[in-house]
Amino acid sequence: MRLLIMGPQGVGKGTQAKLLAEHYGIPTISTGDIFRANIKNKTELGKKVLEYTSQGFLVPDELTNEIVRDRLAQDDAKNGWILDGYPRNVAQVSALDEILEGLGEQLDAVVALTAPTNVLLERMAKRAKEEGRADDTPEAIQNRLNTYDKETTPVLDIYQQRGKLVTVNGVGEIDAISEEIVKALDAKLG
Ligand code: AMP
Repeated sequence: MRLLIMGPQGVGKGTQAKLLAEHYGIPTISTGDIFRANIKNKTELGKKVLEYTSQGFLVPDELTNEIVRDRLAQDDAKNGWILDGYPRNVAQVSALDEILEGLGEQLDAVVALTAPTNVLLERMAKRAKEEGRADDTPEAIQNRLNTYDKETTPVLDIYQQRGKLVTVNGVGEIDAISEEIVKALDAKLG
């Protein structure tokens, strides 16, 4: 199974990606997690991306695409994966197309989680208190919502046109949403 999971900040993408990964027995590949780990370990990559992630702006495509290219070529990604947080703009869609062509692989489906903006903002405020993520400042949160609208919504349109999109309501109990996603994928992929 090769899946993308998409949705605005606070929609529960990371949580659902982990549950789906367990369900299908495949790894989750989160570009956000990779960047955060590099920032924490103060790697060269971490130093380069901090100025973008801390303000809620997208990291330049050249850096992001290379990370995904390397990660998808690793052994544990041979039998499937869930990409969480990538692609996030139209140029990254083309980059992913090219990476997959090179690997002789194809995407099965794109899961889009949705929630009203007020629910997202409440969840972000809660997470900011609980986790203290560097990019959970009010400005960064606003930047990330704007970036999602401007740059990432067109990505959903592309996958919709390609017949890959599965949209699931991201408001509710975590386990119920996960079951809903699996049901929707079963219905789509048979
Ligand atoms: P996330 O945890 O997915 O919200 O990602 C945290 C931050 O990492 C984002 O706000 C971006 O700054 C950066 N990031 C993650 N994925 C990407 C991507 N596909 N393209 C560019 N920047 C990204």
